[in-house]
Amino acid sequence: MISRRKILTAAAAGSVASTAVRAASFGNPDEPPQGVINTKGNPASLTDPGPQNPAIGGQFPSAQFPPPTDVSDMPHFWASFNNAAKRVQDGGWARQVTQADFAIAETISGVDMRLTAGGIRELHWHLAAEWGYMSYGNCRITILDEMGRAQVADVKEGDLWYFPAGLPHSLQGLGPDGCEFLLCFDDGKATEYNTILLTDWFAHTPPDILAENFGVPAETFAKIPLHQLYIFQGKLPGALAADQASVKSALGLPPHPFTFSLGSSAPVKHTKGGEVRIADSNNFNVSKTIAAALVTLHSGGLREMHWHHNADEWQYWIKGKGRMTVFDSGPRAVTMDFNPGDIGYVKRSNGHYIKNTGDTDLQFLEVFRSSYYADVSLSDWLTHTPPELVAQHLNVDAATIAKFPNNKPAVMPE
Ligand code: MN
Ligand code: MN
Repeated sequence: MISRRKILTAAAAGSVASTAVRAASFGNPDEPPQGVINTKGNPASLTDPGPQNPAIGGQFPSAQFPPPTDVSDMPHFWASFNNAAKRVQDGGWARQVTQADFAIAETISGVDMRLTAGGIRELHWHLAAEWGYMSYGNCRITILDEMGRAQVADVKEGDLWYFPAGLPHSLQGLGPDGCEFLLCFDDGKATEYNTILLTDWFAHTPPDILAENFGVPAETFAKIPLHQLYIFQGKLPGALAADQASVKSALGLPPHPFTFSLGSSAPVKHTKGGEVRIADSNNFNVSKTIAAALVTLHSGGLREMHWHHNADEWQYWIKGKGRMTVFDSGPRAVTMDFNPGDIGYVKRSNGHYIKNTGDTDLQFLEVFRSSYYADVSLSDWLTHTPPELVAQHLNVDAATIAKFPNNKPAVMPE
């Protein structure tokens, strides 16, 4: 173990040291003095006698050996579902990361849920709006709007749903192998474990009231569950058309669907470096409080330096691996590494970029508590500001600035 640790440490330090040497001649790595660059002549400064856990530590080279341009002292903006405790039931499981677990995440809390084929997430509602992203399999959703118009729909990998705050809904895994999905609530404090459940209300209403309310004898309810079901194994539903026919009311369908196919929508940006797809209230009309971008970065691709003026960004890392540096006033700049199942968070107006550091596509979601998606591109700003003005800030001539991308590519290379 000791020799393995030494090898890992030496390898990481070596690659970072060479980056540091390059950066030293350009950036500002030593004021305030931080990073490997400062350990020249004193290699003991880099050693880490322990305790340590190489399996975890090895996933965070940027935390262990920050780029010399980093200035630490920023709230932790990394979290993960990978180490979130599962609530396991017969029919599936759920795990969550709320602001109670992840202090920086004020605007969004996240849930990762698995339903088996036939597994049912009980009929319920809650105070926050719910935005769902299908990461695997097939699922049937039901919802009733406040006018009494119902929707039943099937969703697949890459699809979304949006359930406005307080509207009642359900989810059920379909064949062949159920589903897994992400839920985002539009409130960092919202928890999946205090939703308002159908079975709880029945079990805590006097039987004579149930009888009067539904116009049937009280004995009808002799076998209701006395404890909540939450997630339970059910029978696979029949054909979608039959379920849709069974919920029809004279009021018809909701005017705008509560589901949207984000993964198979046309990209709004498509470059050599990757693709960006967007869903917000402009194209997914019901999604009044959540906007999202699904970003694919090919190996080596870069999500360009940018920020969001309208909302904090909550990220879900789906595939591949990458690195993000977040920049704030101070100056402060912190770099972190991300893997599938991880969560990132960037406060409104903090600058950031994301680099694909793996040899496969990187895919992640940017989720915002906003009715619309918006970003401000650093390159777009600098190419739409008088060149002589920019040139005097950066000591770069105007002809060079004219080569910067001026069309918001979102993903580099163009
Ligand atoms: Mn829900
Ligand atoms: Mn962003």
